[in-house]
This record gives sequence, C-alpha cells and structure tokens, in this order.
Amino acid sequence: MSITEINHWINGGEAAGHGSARQDVFNPATGKVSGSLHMGDAEDLQKTLEAARAAADVWGETSLSKRMAVLFKFRELVHAHTQDLAALITAEHGKVLSDAAGEVGRGLEVVEFACAMPQTLKGEYTDQIATGIDVYSFRQPVGVVAGITPFNFPVMVPLWMAPLAIATGNAFVLKPSERDPSASMLLAKLWKDAGLPDGVFQVLHGDKEIVNGLLTHDLVDAISFVGSTPIAKHVHETATRHGKRVQALGGAKNHAVVMPDADLDLAADHLSAAAFGSAGERCMAISVAVAVGDAADKLVANVGDRARAITVGNGTQEGVDMGPVITPASKERVLRIVTEAEQDGAVVVVDGRDLAVEGHAEGFFVGPTVLDRVKDTMTAYEEEIFGPVLAVVRVETLEDAIRVINANPYGNGTAIFTASGHAARTFQRQVTVGMIGVNVPVPVPAAQHSFGGWKDSLFGDLHIYGPDGVRFYTRGKVITQRWPAENDLSGASMNFPSNA
Ligand code: NAD
Repeated sequence: MSITEINHWINGGEAAGHGSARQDVFNPATGKVSGSLHMGDAEDLQKTLEAARAAADVWGETSLSKRMAVLFKFRELVHAHTQDLAALITAEHGKVLSDAAGEVGRGLEVVEFACAMPQTLKGEYTDQIATGIDVYSFRQPVGVVAGITPFNFPVMVPLWMAPLAIATGNAFVLKPSERDPSASMLLAKLWKDAGLPDGVFQVLHGDKEIVNGLLTHDLVDAISFVGSTPIAKHVHETATRHGKRVQALGGAKNHAVVMPDADLDLAADHLSAAAFGSAGERCMAISVAVAVGDAADKLVANVGDRARAITVGNGTQEGVDMGPVITPASKERVLRIVTEAEQDGAVVVVDGRDLAVEGHAEGFFVGPTVLDRVKDTMTAYEEEIFGPVLAVVRVETLEDAIRVINANPYGNGTAIFTASGHAARTFQRQVTVGMIGVNVPVPVPAAQHSFGGWKDSLFGDLHIYGPDGVRFYTRGKVITQRWPAENDLSGASMNFPSNA
C-alpha cells in the first residue's frame, strides 16, 4: 500500500513546513501505515500564527453578508463531499462508513447554524434609557482562535468550532489529532474552494510541542480544546495563565439508568448501539448501564444478545456494524481492564477479548464486551475505557442510581430509560451532568443548543457550539450615547452619573 504524505495547510495552501519530524498514521483495520504526517515546529507555528493574525484583521472587518456567502458555499461543499470526508475518517479512525457520514452530518448542522449568524449576532438597543441617552451593545471577534481536537471525531469536532469562529470574524488555526489528520486537510481545501481568504482557516499538525506553543503564544487569543481530561485540565490551566479565553472539554463516563418500568427491549437496543457504536470511542458513548431493581437480569440478557449479534470488521465493508479501536495501545488497555474486572469479581457476559477478524490479523480489533456486577471500586468503572465495553452496575432504587452518577468525577452525558415522567423529571433535576437523555441514549444537543459537560468533563465557563459558541468567539461592547441639541449644556455633574 502506498504511503501518503500529509502536509500542513498554511496561509492558503499545503506546506511541508520547516519541522523535520514525521509521524506514521495507521489504518486501524489493517494495522498498516497509510500516511506520513509532517509535524510542525516553532518556526511553523510562528508562520501560521502571523498569517492568522494578518487574516483576522481583514476578515474581522469583512461584512457579515460577505462572510455568510462563504459559509453558505462551504455548507454546500461539505454536503457534496460527505462521502469523501467519510472515507478519509474510516481509513484513519476505523469507524464504519455510515457512522463516519453521520459524523459529517452532525458537523454540517453547526455550519448551518453559523449560516444564520446575521440573525444570531444582532445586538441590543435601549432607546432613551435616560433623558437623551441610548444604550446599545454588540459583539466583535476575539481575533485568533486555536482549535485542538481529539482523534474520535476528526470532522465533527473541528466543525463544532471553526464555522462559528469564522462566521463571527475570527481566524482559526486547527491542530487536529495526529492519529487521523487527513480529513482536516480536505476541510481546509473546501474552505478555500468556498472563497475563504488565505490564513482564515489553517491546519498545523503536531503533538504537545505545538499544543503548548499555541497555549502560550502572544498571537493566540482563545483556545477551544476537546480531548481527554488530564490534557483538558493542562490546556485550561496553561492557557488561562497566559491570558487566553479557554474552553476545554474533557473525557467522560456516561451512565444510562434503566428503570424496572422501562421497555427492556428498546433499552437494550439503544444501549448496545450507544455502547458499541464507533467501538465505544465516543465521548457520549454509554459505558455504564445502571440497572435498577429487577430490571437487571432481563436487561443483561437482552444486551448480551445484541452484543453477540454485532458484526465487527473493516469499516469500509458492507454489513459491518463496528470497526477497530484506534491503536494497539488502546486495544491493550481495553483487554487489561476487562481482565482486571474479571479478576475482581465482575461477570464477563460477552467477551470480546479474543475476537479475530478474517483477513485482518494485524488490525486493532476488540469485540463487544458486556461486564455484569461491576463495582465502583473496579478500574472498569473508574477509568474511561474508550472501547467497546458496557459495564452493568446493579442498584436498588433511582436514588441509588443518582448517587452513583453524582459521585463520579465525570459529568458529560447520561440517560434514563423509563415509562415514568416523574422518575425522568427527578433524574434530570438531580444529576450533576451537563447533557441528559430521556429514553435517548446519546443526547448530543442539536446545533441550536450548546454542548458541554459538568465536573471533569469541561474546564471553562462556556459550552461549545450553539449560543455559547457564539459568545465564546466574540467579545461584547456596550455603547452609551448622547447627541445633545446644539447649545444644550445640561447633564454634566460631579456626582456619579445617574440614569434620570
Ligand atoms: P487526547 O487528550 O489524547 O488528545 C487530544 C488533543 O490533545 C490532540 O490533538 C493531541 O495531539 C493533544 N495532546 C495529546 N497529549 C498532549 C499533551 N501531553 N500536551 C498537549 N497536547 C496533547 O485525546 P484523544 O485520545 O485524541 O481523544 C479521546 C478523548 O477525548 C477521550 O477522553 C474522549 O472522552 C475525549 N473527548 C471528549 C469530548 C467532549 O465533548 N467532552 C469529545 C470527543 C472526545
């Protein structure tokens, strides 16, 4: 198989950059190297940020209607290239093609929300708040924004950020995951084809050296980060210390509570899709089922049936439900945690450890795994597994379930399956989690709302995309104005100005 050279996208075109380091990119289904990625260095960072700064000054002054013309065109191009983007995602991430196309679709929703920016950005005006005085407010771009993104959504997560940053008049520098960087290069080309001026959207590849450079560089005004909790914490602490606005979304351990009154077939269908879709590598994957009372036995049996029926294989092939995990290290982590859980007394109801996929002996595959009777002291409960493992925790009451969830350090997403509106309402009001599904297992908010968790799942004040995204990428200004008639000298006072 040929190995593709993957460049940066700096100031309007592909560039190999100054940095001499390269990193291999793998196809996780075959285990083979498919790409050689140029890793940026300090000189590449400086060049990229200088281009971004210059572009931000011009783009921020460009009329909203001209900016929207680019956004609308970009929307059409992403839509038209959905399958191309999906193919790049599958080749480097491993998720099945239909799931990859679904990721592009959810990213497109944010582009569409950004296309409404003239409406969203409208300011506020108070006529005659005091005699002869009007007050109005509006928002302006922050300047240069950097987006640092994880491997698990190589298109959707950059599209959570860039369309809003760009529509509001900023320049955006993307530092994608080094594991699956190719889709970001197609996004860059589509921005260019849509008419975006050079330097407004750039892609700089690299590892922690580039990330730390972005967090501390004077030319960067704001950082949007999505990734694991330890890195999110580091990003938030470092960039805020350097005077930047930061939103840093971290990891997750998402629980779904299943009440005894729930439809246990429906719950099992949804839980297995939410736990094993994308091999469990979603920040909103359900990794813990909290079975309440006598829901447990039937739920475990049902989920076990669903897990055994999943076809695992190369995500490019028809009929495959689930692809590989991202790296051999991820696979090792999943196997280790399952084995430790078994040793600590969990029941392995479905065991994916020995899965072999025909013709893909070198691929990074783990089969769907269901662990029953998991305790909160086991690593299978404590760690974010980020693989196709569903842990079942048994509790007696809804109150117990809420206690378990609230004691967990993460607070990204959660769900409840029930036929009781009262149980659902109690749950949604009491859990310390940012996104909640009621009979919906993966409650990723639509683009008109914002996405974000609580506790160790988000560091910073504003959630991502939706109205919070617009606030994050803009700064407010409030104008207080007086236009007195000629020779009207009234109003001056040594006292603190009052609104009379
Ligand atoms: P990661 O934290 O390893 O990497 C994320 C980004 O940080 C990458 O661009 C990477 O290059 C960079 N990075 C890695 N190590 C770094 C370091 N030491 N210093 C500075 N930068 C560093 O995450 P990942 O493995 O790519 O993605 C999976 C994680 O992301 C999971 O924990 C998942 O829950 C989380 N995630 C969260 C959300 C959310 O919305 N909360 C969404 C998607 C993924």
